[in-house]
Amino acid sequence: MCFLDKESFKKDYEEKFSELFGIELSEGTEYNKYEALGSLIRDYIAKMWINTEKIYQKSGVKQIYYFSMEFLLGRLLVSNLINLGIREICQEALNDIGIDLKELEELEHDQGLGNGGLGRLAACFLDSMASLGIPGHGCGIRFKYGFFEQKIIGGNQVEYPDNWLKDNNVWEIRRADKAVVVKFGGTVNMEKSEGRLIFTHVNYEPVLAVPYDTPIVGYKNGVVNNLRLWSAEPLGKEIDFSYFRKGDFLKAMEYKNSIEAISQVLYPDDSFEEGRILRLKQEYFLVSAGIQRIVKNYKKAGHNIRDFHEKIAIHINDTHPALAIPELMRILMDEEGLGWDEAFMITEHTISYTNHTILSEAMEKWPVDTFKSLLPRIYMIVEELNERFCRGLWNEYTGQWDKISRMAIISDGYVRMDRLAIVGSHSVNGVAKIHTEILKKKVMADFYYYTPHKFNNKTNGISHRRWLIQANPDLTSLLKETIGDSFINHPTDINYFQKYADDPTIHQRLYDIKRSNKLKLCDYIMKTCNIKVDPDSLFDVQIKRIHAYKRQTLNAFHIMDLYNRLIENPDLDIQPRTFIFAGKAAPSYYLAKKIITLINRLAEKINNDARVKDKIKVVFLDNYRVSLAEKIIPAADLSEQISTATKEASGTGNMKFMMNGALTIATLDGANIEIKDLVGENNMFIFGLKSEEVLKYSQYGGYSPVEIMKEDDRIRRISQDLINGMYSSDFSDFLAIYDSLYKYNDEYFVLKDFSSYVDAQAEVDKVYRDFNKWYKMVVINIANSGTFSSDRTIKEYATGIWGLRYPDNILNEG
Ligand SMILES: *Cc1c(COP(=O)(O)O)cnc(C)c1O
Repeated sequence: MCFLDKESFKKDYEEKFSELFGIELSEGTEYNKYEALGSLIRDYIAKMWINTEKIYQKSGVKQIYYFSMEFLLGRLLVSNLINLGIREICQEALNDIGIDLKELEELEHDQGLGNGGLGRLAACFLDSMASLGIPGHGCGIRFKYGFFEQKIIGGNQVEYPDNWLKDNNVWEIRRADKAVVVKFGGTVNMEKSEGRLIFTHVNYEPVLAVPYDTPIVGYKNGVVNNLRLWSAEPLGKEIDFSYFRKGDFLKAMEYKNSIEAISQVLYPDDSFEEGRILRLKQEYFLVSAGIQRIVKNYKKAGHNIRDFHEKIAIHINDTHPALAIPELMRILMDEEGLGWDEAFMITEHTISYTNHTILSEAMEKWPVDTFKSLLPRIYMIVEELNERFCRGLWNEYTGQWDKISRMAIISDGYVRMDRLAIVGSHSVNGVAKIHTEILKKKVMADFYYYTPHKFNNKTNGISHRRWLIQANPDLTSLLKETIGDSFINHPTDINYFQKYADDPTIHQRLYDIKRSNKLKLCDYIMKTCNIKVDPDSLFDVQIKRIHAYKRQTLNAFHIMDLYNRLIENPDLDIQPRTFIFAGKAAPSYYLAKKIITLINRLAEKINNDARVKDKIKVVFLDNYRVSLAEKIIPAADLSEQISTATKEASGTGNMKFMMNGALTIATLDGANIEIKDLVGENNMFIFGLKSEEVLKYSQYGGYSPVEIMKEDDRIRRISQDLINGMYSSDFSDFLAIYDSLYKYNDEYFVLKDFSSYVDAQAEVDKVYRDFNKWYKMVVINIANSGTFSSDRTIKEYATGIWGLRYPDNILNEG
């Protein structure tokens, strides 16, 4: 399918440019050229967008709404060109008129409305839903400032606001006509009328929710779904005139600011920041705006509200949008006049929930008082839900107060969002097999026992269109050349590549591609960090959020040990390595920021130590984000997935690396286990405590790090080096890291896993120097990566959770 030829594209582009800017192309800035291209692409998309909506309407097919506080889309220009099937035409046409598409690409600001994996998952899911022809739409908040921009200054992380909207966003369309009002605070009056209780919410603060829509283009199938992001605006009046007239300008502005604050900034913490009222406001704002609009559209299409769950599925990405449950109940009862039982039946059938973490500090809970005063009517509904649920529990577990309080939605003065999400939805899924098992057996064991049918697993995935076809065009070409292009629409067909496992010419081709990707990354590192990196060194990469459980410290300790060994023996025979890091720490997470500082100090010291003879280098790339991941991952030889077993629910970075021909050094955690099940333990580097061991130690209060230190000279030395000024003239710089090990008992088993990690790294060193062995493993990894396409994940959600009869209701292939 192609609706375009080169000449008409050129004509369209030139017309678009002059329409927008009224000047000659040659006089325009580079950004003008990007904007014109983006706008033109959006025009092309617009026709399909309208058409898709029309088909959905006419067919009456079930609509899926994916609610998420985060959507980490990254850049859209090239992915849109690829999905429209016009990348080559566009590239050639622009070439003819002296424009380099590659350069324009770099001008687009990442759409970074997410912290990490959870937000990126939402973005990959949107891509897969559109590409599979599933009527699935995103619903989120249009944060004015995305995830902060990170700069490394003097080795430390410094945060800057991410003002991503400062230049015109060519993809979005404001839809003021679709705005709704969201109500906060106030009181609820109750009266009886015709035997029914009527609730009226009064004296509330109204906030106008205005949607901005971004088209989500399916891969060469004519489908365009919608990502709707809501923006908070003052209602009617820009500023509160009653204050304004009294001359109190500040107070007047305060009103405007307090409302706009709701969609002002994304919380830069990937676990939960307890009790932040603005965060609770954001969460309700998202679900209330989103669901009001869905119900309005549903009714406008002439459907009966009693069939709502037959036509609509609402998925909540973690508990952040869990207020969807009481909000839908509110609308069904207070606005549509349904009774409690019917409203609950519809709500439960409509809503499904994904859990993303078992870290206890990430479990959302709100103090009852805060909740009640901000959301009085919603609180009443949650309270009633809780009472009815607990009554059911009492019938089953009479007298077992402990158990009931462990399961109650409201307990110890808090509203528990995970419990609300489980009780109010028909499906609860984990994001990797082991994670789901831990939910069922440990974290949510009581609920699993009570309602086992709700629980299921959906192992995460990644869009192979973005992470392979877009990010690694040379590898994509090799795959097409060897196994044909069926893997593009059927990603598990990438399995056919396995037959080249022992083919030395393919090994060589893979090496050439990797080296060319590494050269590009070398240029980028030179440009951004002014560090000269050897493209023939092994690229050992850990890029992800900086967090104690992800154990960047373990990686750093391996480097510190290797450095010590090199100083002692400069002739040490090792494969030269470049250790590449990137990742942001939550601004309030002191320990994580110190880990960043440590890595940067290692870099300064090691990169400039002549005794090392360039055998190892350390690089910290700042401002980790989707577009940076796209540059690093295709150049990686080794993928670091070294979280403490049980702590990483799934991980998706692991999948991106595997698909791009990096080998994995990993603990048996999250989806690493499923990678191992596919490729076999001989085709990756596994080390460390198993989840059962971690759980057992944790149950008995941990282990003794001091004992380990006494037995292991390497650990003693590294530990001392943290606090003896070796890496920082400020001796207290890394005290927090030291204390996390010895004072707070090494909660994440860094020292416990150290020896086994170093052994695994020695194995990596050995295998890398055996060219054909390494590349055989690379082939096997690539060949087994198709399972991790989010297309597989989304098909499982569609049939297993959302009740779509895939592929009946699909627009595809026609
Ligand atoms: C994939 C991705 C993540 C998640 O990485 P993990 O290694 O699974 O934690 C985070 N941030 C960005 C920008 C990503 O692309």
